[in-house]
Amino acid sequence: MTKEYIRSDGRTYNTLRNIKMKVGILNNADGSAYIECGNNKILVGVYGPKELYSKKHSKPDGAVLRCKYNMAPFSVKERKRPGQDRRAIEISKLISEAILPGIFLEKYPRSSIDISVEVLEAEGGTRCLGIIGASLALADAEIPMKDLISAIAVGKVDENIVIDLSEKEDQEGEADMPVAIMPRTDEITFLQMDGHLTAQEFDEALKLAFEGCRFINKLQKETLLSKYGGM
Ligand code: UDP
Repeated sequence: MTKEYIRSDGRTYNTLRNIKMKVGILNNADGSAYIECGNNKILVGVYGPKELYSKKHSKPDGAVLRCKYNMAPFSVKERKRPGQDRRAIEISKLISEAILPGIFLEKYPRSSIDISVEVLEAEGGTRCLGIIGASLALADAEIPMKDLISAIAVGKVDENIVIDLSEKEDQEGEADMPVAIMPRTDEITFLQMDGHLTAQEFDEALKLAFEGCRFINKLQKETLLSKYGGM
């Protein structure tokens, strides 16, 4: 890998796209977050915890976490057909699994927590932004958490290990590896890999993902602090 490598959008191997986060922007949701990263625009709303009356769906020992990831028809270059496809079902599942270890679900038996991740504009990396936004929106809903879960994709482009792949890099690169971690414990809560990396490249990519996630975790905490002051 060359540290001097300059990517097609002018970034170095370890530079993230411009990222902005906000919380508490929706009045009718219990918690909400909005994230922009490059040309990605993602809105997350949390509803709950609410009592779940259905015995079939509720759990006596904790809340049920339900997540729905949705891409707006206008979010991508080619109009997206409304409704859930296989990709959206997969991403909904992985977002809830990635954030689950960060939440004290046991505090809310027989309850549900619903998370809606709405992608308004997509440019690669929406699953990671969904995880970041969902975690922020849960904190905004004052749901007790062990830590904010942070996520970033790393991968291989033109033989270089890089962070925060754009849509073009995702499509044209050799590997794409989105990762989520809980920085307080260094636990990896989600990892996927598309493409091929050697064992050495994998180690290098994972190290870069940890650095990126720690940076994002700091931004998440600053976002909450700037809205709510000392916590
Ligand atoms: N994309 C698209 N149409 C689709 C799905 C994805 O144009 O139906 C684009 C979108 O910009 C997305 C990118 O392809 O962010 C990469 O998609 P992927 O499935 O790898 O998920 P992501 O990187 O967004 O988590």
